[in-house]
Amino acid sequence: MNRLGLGIKFEWPVYLDYEIEEGPPPMVGMGLLRSAKSWPKIVARGSPQMKRPLGNFPDLWLRLAKLQPSPDNCLDFARNYGLLTHHTEEVLPFWKDCCISMNKLIELVETKSNWNIEDGKYIPRLFPGSLDLQFEPDVSSKNIIINAVPKNLNAALRLQCLSHYSEGGTVRACEWCGNLMEIGGSTGKRSHVKFCSDKCRSSSHHQLNRPRKTR
Ligand SMILES: [Zn+2]
Repeated sequence: MNRLGLGIKFEWPVYLDYEIEEGPPPMVGMGLLRSAKSWPKIVARGSPQMKRPLGNFPDLWLRLAKLQPSPDNCLDFARNYGLLTHHTEEVLPFWKDCCISMNKLIELVETKSNWNIEDGKYIPRLFPGSLDLQFEPDVSSKNIIINAVPKNLNAALRLQCLSHYSEGGTVRACEWCGNLMEIGGSTGKRSHVKFCSDKCRSSSHHQLNRPRKTR
């Protein structure tokens, strides 16, 4: 891919704040199913700031995979990184779907036996409509700069996940807290790492060395 001189460029708005809107009380005659799918929503407030989450948070895809999509946790995620596919509002059930599909993607790329095979070859998967191709002249040379631009945060995080696996990375659960952590790839975390943080390592160590008391 680098031979093509293709980069990745992704900026995404994070607003001053986000709130949960529960929606109007159901009205007579309103389709129940439809109203249930449109609410509750996360809604952006204030003005946006453009951020570059891919470079600043290399394991953000894992944070989405680990997110327990309660309203509070989704709000917390949105306040840090923005919404997943839209700029200013998104229905909460969609967040749950995105968490599930990120976990399914990890499951798929973790194990080759999860792939369908046809004529002795793995069948490639597609994320249709997830990237744009952008190009512009370089200011300091005659070169043209080419970038793949994910269309939204969810697409960017899928790309971040796949890129980790394309560089030989994998994931493992921390032996203390169970949180998934990146191993290998560009993270430099070696395959013998058992804990996600110093805190987990020392907690585990502490537990192992604690004298056993009988009360
Ligand atoms: Zn841990």
